[in-house]
Amino acid sequence: MGLRFPAVVLFAALAIGAACTGQTTGTNDHMNDSTLDANVLLAGWTGPYGGVPAFDGMDLAALKPALEAGMTMHLDQIEVIANDPEPPTFENTIVAMERAGRDLDRVMTYWAIWGRNLSTPEFREIQVEMAPRLAEFRTKITQNRALFERVKLLYEGDEKASLREDQQRLVWLIYDSFARDGATLEGDAKARYAAINQRLAQIQTQFANNVLADEEAYVLYISSDQLSGLADSFVKAAAAAATERDRDGQYAITNTRSSMDPFLTFSDERELREKVWRTFYSRGDNGDDHDNNALVAEILQLRHERVRLLGYENYAQWRLENRMAKTPENALELLRAVWPAALARVKEEVADMQAIADAQGASLTIEPWDYRYYAERVRKDKYDLDSNEVKQYLQLDKLREAMFFVAGELFAFVFTPVPENSVPVFHEDVQVWEVTGKTSGEHVGLWYFDPFARPGKRSGAWATTYRDHDTLDGKRTVLASNNSNFIKGAPGKPVLISWSDAETLFHEFGHALHYLSSSVDYPTLNDGVRDYTEFQSQLLEHWLSTEKVIDNYLVHHETGQTIPDELVARIKRAATFNQGFAQTEYVASALLDMRYHMMDPTGIDSDAFERKAMAELQMPDEIVMRHRSPHFAHIFSSEGYSAGYYGYLWADVLTADAAEAFAGAPGGFYDRDLARKLVENLFTVGNAVDPAAAYREFRGRDAEIGPVMRSYGFPVPD
Ligand SMILES: [Zn+2]
Repeated sequence: MGLRFPAVVLFAALAIGAACTGQTTGTNDHMNDSTLDANVLLAGWTGPYGGVPAFDGMDLAALKPALEAGMTMHLDQIEVIANDPEPPTFENTIVAMERAGRDLDRVMTYWAIWGRNLSTPEFREIQVEMAPRLAEFRTKITQNRALFERVKLLYEGDEKASLREDQQRLVWLIYDSFARDGATLEGDAKARYAAINQRLAQIQTQFANNVLADEEAYVLYISSDQLSGLADSFVKAAAAAATERDRDGQYAITNTRSSMDPFLTFSDERELREKVWRTFYSRGDNGDDHDNNALVAEILQLRHERVRLLGYENYAQWRLENRMAKTPENALELLRAVWPAALARVKEEVADMQAIADAQGASLTIEPWDYRYYAERVRKDKYDLDSNEVKQYLQLDKLREAMFFVAGELFAFVFTPVPENSVPVFHEDVQVWEVTGKTSGEHVGLWYFDPFARPGKRSGAWATTYRDHDTLDGKRTVLASNNSNFIKGAPGKPVLISWSDAETLFHEFGHALHYLSSSVDYPTLNDGVRDYTEFQSQLLEHWLSTEKVIDNYLVHHETGQTIPDELVARIKRAATFNQGFAQTEYVASALLDMRYHMMDPTGIDSDAFERKAMAELQMPDEIVMRHRSPHFAHIFSSEGYSAGYYGYLWADVLTADAAEAFAGAPGGFYDRDLARKLVENLFTVGNAVDPAAAYREFRGRDAEIGPVMRSYGFPVPD
């Protein structure tokens, strides 16, 4: 996933503390107070590469005053624009708005680092207090009547027709974000709207923190006689994790996906598997202080009430209006096209697994905590593919070099490590590369990489920016970052990762390339369209299994031998393996998300609702949703993916369709002509062009569903 949130006029981004647009040229001329001048989080970025964040000087005590000052400065700038005696023009209104708030952007960069990479109880206290205040601030801009009137005049006026196409689209995007965000409301409705936003920000943050608390609080400690089946690397990491928690000599199975997944796949201890499974899928659902069930109900009800104020029937209708899918019905149609094929495949998968269990005389019925374990046995049996064997050829450092190679071939980017200590980082694990143009030699930006797991770091993998490209005051170069949770190897030993983790690595790097290749002039045009932003990243995953990458970078960590052709062939054959499980656990969550957001949720009991929905969908007993409601952070910890979790599948359709284009091109995945078309039409333009039109420009037609069904190994519907 990519944690880059749409930030039309910065509104959405601030509410959820996500993608930030920092700046290089801040002179902070609004600040007179000398103590604020010294605030490290608010200060303009100095140093090389157009200025870089002062990650080495982050001081939590400075956060609250910096946020407060940043909000005040932004509001002051907005007031100046709103009260301009001159009639509204593109320049004095739209461009001025685009330029406003950069001081706060810088603070939000640090806020996001604390929120995701370096979370502590002390930060979370500030976060709980400040999230609603940021929402209130955001609403103050959205509901600034005078400002909206100026935008409206421009949107409806004559000047617009004389603007460039990207500028016209910018005017529309900004107008639309106001209208969709309550700008047209008056009186009580307006006040209620603001109150709802504030409360939502507060409880969505609480939701996220409850999940994190359960991930940190529940650790299963096992002893040396309970390690059967587990890989060496996993055992070592578990031992280190136990030592870190003062349990020397034991092994800690932490309550995160990256720990749960390999444990359930490999542990021979069925009772322990059940325990780990139950604990993981009970996050936020333990009836204690961190239980999220009541919050789910409140979040849904508030969202519904809010869009009703704007005259929408339901939340999903409001949410999807400016997405590529346009309507909830379009998204549902796609999910429903995949669902029966996924269920049918699960039946086959379970039968295969049961046969193996029976043959081994295990005398059991496949339960959810057995699925990954027996799937791994089927994988070995059917494809003779052992994940650990594959891992020996997947070294993190080599894979990173492979990504740089691909970026060089497709984007003409060159990655060079920055001189030691020239760019501040927030943790010693973080490394930084300079990105330049291969032919021009021109500086493009920096790429930060924070690869390893640590306490206080959000689980999973994500990409984000600390600064986006624009040309408002000269060219601003991009500061992009990738973040993952690999387990650090022993000193001097390479970090070996799984095939799916390697895909994720390429995926997140795809987001980074998307940011780095931006050529848009205005910050708002960098914002992603949720069901489209995963496309670029998902497409990049395909380059992992291209010949050039395989031959040069997938080499054995001890012998240096290239991964054998026949092993690659087996990996490719196994690519559609277990897609019944993968699509079912995903689509179930996506369908539940749509149901939640297409109904009137008054008085909802989410626990009962989830059960009923799964029964109606005929969810197989052997699988649970990828994200159950009480920990479905994608849709409840912010509005980033709410009524939008289907977006991964939507992007999959585009991805598979585009991948087939490359597979069929004369130069294959390194076809110069197609690569140029891809970068020009689908990467550099951001949201300056309607995504559907951009895709048509690249492909010569709309995407079709056939390729995605083939990519899952499912039959193609008529
Ligand atoms: Zn992503």
